[in-house]
Amino acid sequence: MMIKKASGKQQPRKMINDFIRECHSIAREKGWWQEERNDGELIALIHSELSEALEAMRNQGRKDDVAEELADCCIRIFDYCGAREIDLEKALLKKMEYNKTRPYRHGKKF
Ligand SMILES: [Mg+2]
Repeated sequence: MMIKKASGKQQPRKMINDFIRECHSIAREKGWWQEERNDGELIALIHSELSEALEAMRNQGRKDDVAEELADCCIRIFDYCGAREIDLEKALLKKMEYNKTRPYRHGKKF
């Protein structure tokens, strides 16, 4: 899929797996994968970025501050998926289609 940039140039739209490849490649270049990493630690680091997003909100951060922390979370998720060869794009598309078939509020009270 192509997208038009502000300059008027067309460029291919990045899909989720493109972000995964790029985030993991950058993390490798920056030395984050010199040794094997522990899944629990990596998940905790993803969670820490969500906590930073919450703190940005609590500190009346601007939307850009919150967005930056959410971006950090996505970067860590993409890096993790790259390291573990997880096809997040496929899982995301499958889950979104499934969610369309679920009842209102997925049948839950809250
Ligand atoms: Mg952060």
